[in-house]
Amino acid sequence: MFYPEPIAKLIDAFSRLPGIGPKTAARLAFFVLRMKEEDVIDFAKALVNVKRNLTYCSVCCNVTDTNPCRICSDKMRDASVICAVQEPKDVVAMERMKEFTGQYHVLHGAISPMEGVGPDDIKIAELVKRLGDERVQELILATNPNIEGEATAMYLSRLVKPFGIKVTRIARGLPVGGDLEYADEVTLSQALEGRREIF
Ligand SMILES: [Zn+2]
Repeated sequence: MFYPEPIAKLIDAFSRLPGIGPKTAARLAFFVLRMKEEDVIDFAKALVNVKRNLTYCSVCCNVTDTNPCRICSDKMRDASVICAVQEPKDVVAMERMKEFTGQYHVLHGAISPMEGVGPDDIKIAELVKRLGDERVQELILATNPNIEGEATAMYLSRLVKPFGIKVTRIARGLPVGGDLEYADEVTLSQALEGRREIF
């Protein structure tokens, strides 16, 4: 009520974004006020475009501006390996590595009984449908190394077993440079589980 209506509306819009509290929202709104008009127009256009021009790939469920997405329609990629990740940003992280040449499946979340997210709430049915393709020989479970990610990997490995497909989990362990005492229990138990003999 202390702000003129247009700025109050903008503050309200920013505060609906994840991780943005009222103070940050006000700071961003006043920053927009000081921006050049053409920059504000570009920003507004980018927001609208992301809704209008992006869709979900009908194969891998990643966000894309072409359907199927560029990775799914790339004939050079290995269709025998599918790497399941939680979020579109995980595909970006994997691609940045420039080592993985297979395809992806974006689950859009992880199973979390605590938050009421079950197998039907993420893109598992879409993944299972793809496994019917006889070219698929390996499913890599690259969900996050936390409780939800582990629960999802466990669920998927059981679900996929009858397909006779090799199921692998990305190697996990303590982060390089991390201290053992600061490692959470999931990480530590996996580090122990994944121990190898050294010479
Ligand atoms: Zn795709």
